[in-house]
Amino acid sequence: MTLPSRVDVICPHCSQQQAATVWSSVNVSINPRLKSEVLSGDLFRMKCRNCDSLTMIEYPCLYHDAVLQFAIWMIGRGEIDAKMQTALQSFRGGVPSWYTLRLARRWRELAETVMLVDAGLNDMAVQFLKLQVIEETGDSGPWFVASHGLGGDPKALTLIGPGNRGVRVELLEGYHRLVQLLTDAHSNAVWTFANPDGAADLVCSIAELRQER
Ligand SMILES: [Zn+2]
Repeated sequence: MTLPSRVDVICPHCSQQQAATVWSSVNVSINPRLKSEVLSGDLFRMKCRNCDSLTMIEYPCLYHDAVLQFAIWMIGRGEIDAKMQTALQSFRGGVPSWYTLRLARRWRELAETVMLVDAGLNDMAVQFLKLQVIEETGDSGPWFVASHGLGGDPKALTLIGPGNRGVRVELLEGYHRLVQLLTDAHSNAVWTFANPDGAADLVCSIAELRQER
């Protein structure tokens, strides 16, 4: 179901309370128009009716693409409580085991993952490559993939870091080995954070599983 609802939000600029539209779930297979609003961030932006300022409201939202068999739940920055845990398990139980399941803390993580999956890339392998960029540049980021050049089987990515610093990353053997590792381990059916830490945890857990065998 893709249904908007109204919540009261206080504008951080002028303190005026007002109703804003929020989408607790977005099914882009049923409502494809919403994908561009997710990518642009417009779905999470409120324009104040009093002072006209724009505010990002990163409310919990489940993004579901039934065609690409991919879901990402933006859960915000807090702990995952029991209610959320139940919702995550319930969703996972209702989709095939090969579904890609991701968690996002922020809109930018959500939008980046949608973009990567749409481009046919392995988002977790890309997140893992960010760890190398963090190490090589000594800059912890955050780093996000630039949208340009992502069409048609990209051979390289540009990561944009703090201060608009750009780093080009070739999708070479290391990337393809990671994709193979992640695919062989059937690593998709676990809710995984769509960021470098999530990728590091996932690769570590795969390595541990292999040692146990
Ligand atoms: Zn305002």
